[in-house]
Amino acid sequence: MTNPVPGYAITTPYGRRGSYWSCDRDSSGNGIHTGADYAAPAGAKVVAARDGTVAHVSYGSAFGYHQVAVRRPDGTEDFYAHMRSRVPHGTTVAVGSKVGEVGAEGNVTGAHLHFERHKGPGWSCALCVDPAPSINYQPAGSGGSGAGGKDDDPVPEYTHVYDSDGWTLGSDDWAPISWPQVQSDSSGAASKGNPGLDLGGSRYSATLLVSIEHNQGAAQVTTRTIEGQLDSAGRWEVTKTRPPQTNNVPSSGALHLSDTRHGSCAKGNKVRWQIKGRKGARVTSARLYVLWWK
Ligand SMILES: [Zn+2]
Repeated sequence: MTNPVPGYAITTPYGRRGSYWSCDRDSSGNGIHTGADYAAPAGAKVVAARDGTVAHVSYGSAFGYHQVAVRRPDGTEDFYAHMRSRVPHGTTVAVGSKVGEVGAEGNVTGAHLHFERHKGPGWSCALCVDPAPSINYQPAGSGGSGAGGKDDDPVPEYTHVYDSDGWTLGSDDWAPISWPQVQSDSSGAASKGNPGLDLGGSRYSATLLVSIEHNQGAAQVTTRTIEGQLDSAGRWEVTKTRPPQTNNVPSSGALHLSDTRHGSCAKGNKVRWQIKGRKGARVTSARLYVLWWK
């Protein structure tokens, strides 16, 4: 069982419903997501989830211009879309061998790999099947590296994507990330988090992607989550602080960082994401993908 984007977690699972997907539409017009998405910075390595032979394919421009199908002797194939580069047609790949790099080509709102499993060669709604259990829906424990996981990992109950507006860090200390924009699929209620998100009572997997720019010499940018609730006086009371993740920023330019967390949150609690960097650094975008299990 191999994760096709090592170090990154699924951000939109197979089978989620939404009006922007067209396969197997229900009576409200919501189709299913035919693959599993891994949001990751452009350039992140994509590897073969199963071995086979690389075919350069074109299953529609919505999937971008560097599409790969890894074909297997049993007639099934794994399909990799939205990449910015790919290994040559005809390459034989083993599990874990590079097939390309994450990109943002085709019909996307951000860089990610769209990964599908087909029960035969080519593309149609009827050929797409759930790629579980040969990929991880939720890496086991809190390691977050994509290791572990069980074959019977259930598909998440629902998923949401939260976006921040960009802002400039006003101090060198922890700053909250707020989420004024939310995209939801058809199931589950999504709250705007300003800045706490109501994750209480469920198991979750969350991937934070941040782009940050600065021009003040090398620095570090750190992200973490804190969990808590408002007390009777309306004050934020922290019950748990999760270990921070630190990223080094080059002496100038942009850093694109990713921080994936797996956990469960006590009922009634909220989770806040925080960032610490040098005062004056500009957060150009922050996006959070959350998957919930009941
Ligand atoms: Zn997708």
